Amino acid sequence: MKITDTILRKYAELIVRTGANVQPGQIVQLTISVEQHAFAALVMEECYKAGAKKVNIDWTCDMQSKLNYLYAEEDVLSTVLPWEEAKLKQMVEDLPCRIYILSEDPDAMNGVDPQKLSSVMQKRATVVKPYRRAIDGKHQWVIAAYPSVKWAKKCFPASSDEEAVEKLWDAILTTVRVQEENDPVAEWKAHTEFIERKAAWLNEQGFSSLRYKSANGTDFTVELIPGAKWEGAGVRNPMNGAFYIPNMPTEEIFTSPIAGRCEGKLVAVKPLSWNSQIIDGFSITFENGRAVACQAEQGQELLEKMLHMDEGASMLGEVALVPKESPVNQCGFLFYETLFDENACCHCAVGMGFKEVLPGGDDMTTEQAKEHGINDSIIHVDFMVGADDLSIDGVRPDGSTAAVFRNGTWA
Ligand code: ZN
Repeated sequence: MKITDTILRKYAELIVRTGANVQPGQIVQLTISVEQHAFAALVMEECYKAGAKKVNIDWTCDMQSKLNYLYAEEDVLSTVLPWEEAKLKQMVEDLPCRIYILSEDPDAMNGVDPQKLSSVMQKRATVVKPYRRAIDGKHQWVIAAYPSVKWAKKCFPASSDEEAVEKLWDAILTTVRVQEENDPVAEWKAHTEFIERKAAWLNEQGFSSLRYKSANGTDFTVELIPGAKWEGAGVRNPMNGAFYIPNMPTEEIFTSPIAGRCEGKLVAVKPLSWNSQIIDGFSITFENGRAVACQAEQGQELLEKMLHMDEGASMLGEVALVPKESPVNQCGFLFYETLFDENACCHCAVGMGFKEVLPGGDDMTTEQAKEHGINDSIIHVDFMVGADDLSIDGVRPDGSTAAVFRNGTWA
């Protein structure tokens, strides 16, 4: 597809109107790479057309981040300066609508000491977290993507820069349902309604466990938290009632299972990119809810390291249902971005769970959520198990069952 001004404007409008659903009088915080300044202007204009009171841009730059990590002292980088904190305080006051345009090079931080990176991030997080928590569940936000040359080349190393970007554009626009002649807003409405119907059905069923089976060796049972919700697609901002879609694309319906309550083997159907390295052809075996064995054709050591990152890294934090017809799956390549890759087919994640799936979970501390069965870990890594023949049965507390998935899609 040729990336015309019309297409770009259509995409910008979709992000602003359907994704973030900017309301008249709202302040918008747009985070975008300096490389994408032209698209930033389009998004900004659409925000004003939607009635935004003010649009502020936080410019990002891969090179700036990398050079800081390479040359500046850890202490310097770890310090959140008073003006940065003032900005966070202002954010809590304004509750801006936040739009994040992702276009980073997946390898941007190669060469940076990973220890320094995680230590800086952890130290900054202790200051930043309370402010983030103060706006959690009280503002609209959306993450969407824009292809950069480096990201595109990572996905299509054999193509020229231009071809690679064109291919990545095609894939992104397919997955977010933007075409020259279509009405993406109407398509998203139908899409989110479908997901919400499925989530409502799952919530009505009140399954206490799910059983997975596939000819590739997947044979697995996971227990679910009583009363925990299946969620997907959209969220309503309780402050103003605006319905927004945090991820574009989005195909999944997900929940957090009981940490430490699963049995059996899960066989991955797609390679997994973790810390810029590939783990492929792998399976994980769980006993008493913990990964006790794993086998990978590629990246065995890396997989073992991942599952031993901390106490929670060997337990599940998420189970998600995505039919194999997902447009991300149809694209047939690895995006090296969770926003896309986790929307390809059914997946599970080891590591941190989502406390917001619990009734009243938004207001719980991590410790309280843990008592309800939500896993805690510094990692959250999704891996795809949605084989073309995957079947999933839901088991109710009384032992009765219902077909959830057959042949990799909704039963
Ligand atoms: Zn997921």
